Amino acid sequence: MVRFTVLASGSKGNATVLSGGRTRILVDCGLSCRELFRRMKLAGEEPESLDAIVITHEHSDHVNGVAVTARKLGIPVYFTEGTHRAWMRWLTPRRQMTYAQWLEQVRKQAAERQAEADAAEDEGEPDEADLLADAEPVSPGMAQMVAAEIQAAAVETEAPATTSAAKKDPTWLPSVEYFRAGEPFAIGDIAISPFTTPHDAADPVGFVFKAEGVRLAFATDLGYIPPNVKAQLKGVDLLLLESNHDLEMLRDGPYPWAVKQRVLSRVGHLSNEAAAGFLENEYDGQAAYVILAHLSESNNLPELARVTAERALTGRASLLANRLLLASQHEPLSAIYF
Ligand SMILES: [Zn+2]
Ligand SMILES: [Zn+2]
Repeated sequence: MVRFTVLASGSKGNATVLSGGRTRILVDCGLSCRELFRRMKLAGEEPESLDAIVITHEHSDHVNGVAVTARKLGIPVYFTEGTHRAWMRWLTPRRQMTYAQWLEQVRKQAAERQAEADAAEDEGEPDEADLLADAEPVSPGMAQMVAAEIQAAAVETEAPATTSAAKKDPTWLPSVEYFRAGEPFAIGDIAISPFTTPHDAADPVGFVFKAEGVRLAFATDLGYIPPNVKAQLKGVDLLLLESNHDLEMLRDGPYPWAVKQRVLSRVGHLSNEAAAGFLENEYDGQAAYVILAHLSESNNLPELARVTAERALTGRASLLANRLLLASQHEPLSAIYF
C-alpha cells in the first residue's frame, strides 16, 4: 500500500511522509524535530520507521529540523550537492574561506570527531549553546528557531559521540547522499525522479515518486511551470502543486515591494492563477488527487485557492479523479492511500 501524508505545507514549514513497499521517506524537514514527531504521531506515522529524508532545496521552511531529525533517527539525508553546500554555508560561520579551504576544514573536523568518538565515553553533557555562537543565521527569527532546535536536541538524549560531533559542527549528519536533477534514483522500494524547478535557491528540485506502480508528483516553490516540469507532471496519480498566492492579495498585501517582486518573479512562487492556468490548459486530468500546497498565509485564502482551482478543473472533477485537497500549514492532511 502507498500512503502519502502532508504534515505541513507553507512558508513556516514543509514536511510530507511517503510510504511505499517497505520504505518510508520524509520529503523536506521544515518543522522542528519535536513538532515533526508530534504531527507524525497525530497522523498515525511512526518517526522511528523513517528510512531517509529527501530535501527539495535549502530554504529554511524546508530544512529547519533536518539536522536534529536525521541525527535523532540516524538516517541519511538526500540532497543535491548544490543544496547541501548551500545549507552548510548557511549554518557554518563565514570566514572568507575558499571552497578548498572549507573542505579541508570539514575533513579536519571529521578526523577530530573520529578521534573523539574513539576516546570519549567520559564526555559530560555538552553545552549546545556554543553551537550558535558564531553562526550566521538568515534572520533573528531563524536564529530563534535554530536555538529551539538545538535546545530540543540537548533535552532529547543523543549518543555522546553524536552530540559532541554536532557541537563541533552544526552541519554534521549521520549520512549524506547526493542526487542530481534529471537522474532518477531509488531509496528502497521508492523510485525518485528529481527535476529542476525555477526558484531562487542554489539547486532546487521537485520530485516524481513511484512506488508499487503509483506515481506521485511534488512541485512547490517554483516561479512558473517550465516545459521540463510540465513533462514530469504527466500521467501521475497524485499531483501536489503549489498555489501560493492570489495575485491581487499579494499586490495589495503587507509585503514590502522587494519581497512582492521576489514572490512574483520567475524564480519565486506559483500563484493561484498560474496553478489554475496549468490545470485548465495543460494538465492531463489523470490524477486521482490534486493537492494545492504551500499556500501563503498573508497573500492567499484557502477558499480563493480552492475556487480558482475548482473552476479550472470543471468538467474534469468526478468522483474518481481530480479530488481537490488543500494542504495546510498548521495540521496534517489526512493520509491518502493507494
Ligand atoms: Zn518553501
Ligand atoms: Zn523556497
